[in-house]
Amino acid sequence: MLSDRRHDIAEMELDELEQTLDALGKARFHGRQLFQWIHKRGIVDFDEMTDLGRDLRSTLATQFQVGTPIVVRKERSSDGTTKFLLRLEDGQLIESVFIPDTPSNTFCISSQVGCAMNCGFCLTGRMGIVRNLTAGEIAGQVRVLARELGMLQSRFNIVLMGMGEPLHNYDAVMKALRILADEHGLAIHPRRITLSTVGVLPALERLATEPLMPNLAISLHATTEEQRNALVPINRKYGIRELLDACRRFPIQRRDRITFEYVMLKGVNDTDEDARRLVRLLHGIRAKVNLLPLNEAAGIPYERPDDARVNRFAKILAERGVTVSVRKSRGRDIRAACGQLITESARQKTPGQILAGLMPA
Ligand code: SF4
Repeated sequence: MLSDRRHDIAEMELDELEQTLDALGKARFHGRQLFQWIHKRGIVDFDEMTDLGRDLRSTLATQFQVGTPIVVRKERSSDGTTKFLLRLEDGQLIESVFIPDTPSNTFCISSQVGCAMNCGFCLTGRMGIVRNLTAGEIAGQVRVLARELGMLQSRFNIVLMGMGEPLHNYDAVMKALRILADEHGLAIHPRRITLSTVGVLPALERLATEPLMPNLAISLHATTEEQRNALVPINRKYGIRELLDACRRFPIQRRDRITFEYVMLKGVNDTDEDARRLVRLLHGIRAKVNLLPLNEAAGIPYERPDDARVNRFAKILAERGVTVSVRKSRGRDIRAACGQLITESARQKTPGQILAGLMPA
């Protein structure tokens, strides 16, 4: 695929836009107009930016493009969850998901093509890392989904829980959050954004110093180092103890809590002893636990525990004063559920399919 060599203007924060206009010998205040057209109204064609002069529009069009992921396919689940397959400028594919009424409307967006973390229960991890997304591509998913769903003027939440580990692509993710939060664009307050991480510790420490702080969710998934080493390989580098100590130091605001995501795997991490250990591990952290009974999928060597086991686990936490919820899985019929995002192109790379593609018809 040929890629457009013009710079991506949707990748710029407002002050960068103003500096760019300065450099072009144009008035800086056009930066605010441009930012609004792109990020608030979802316009991608300079010709439609009618309050900019014709000269400026044609100068911009020769040097810049409004980089925007293209919707290749949209699948709507029976529960209203909608999965979007999006194509990027270089032809790479990513997935983003709209989840209605949870209790607010939520967009689940990706931060990388694939993921390097290789968690044992996750289909995206099977892809490996292909590349990081740019800030424009991360924020662009929100713009595209909001426009497609007629929600540019609506309130919604964002979770960085799609493909990729957000803290493994730190600078682009933080820049995207600043673009999304800008009052001249979608103005999404950081408290409506949740960043989910397996715990890339140096980046987590850096996040603790950011002026713009999203809600934090930790993908914990285990209660012993051995268990977590097997399920979440980065644990071999940054273990549970270190991770939880970093959480204790994390500057969460009053009344806020850190969410601990815990995927429940039958016979692996779902025993009463695990539940009691989890309570002890979270001691001293303002925490809430989100239990995620596994979304089973071909190629994932784990099973989902039955409801009675999940409820028993939740009861042990609740009885010991831990706030706990059990996530009702959304969009399972379209593989939009947590840990199930994997693009068709990657699915097609299974050896059998590659072989099939080489066979004469
Ligand atoms: S669970 Fe998250 S961090 Fe782990 S492999 Fe999947 S996408 Fe990556």
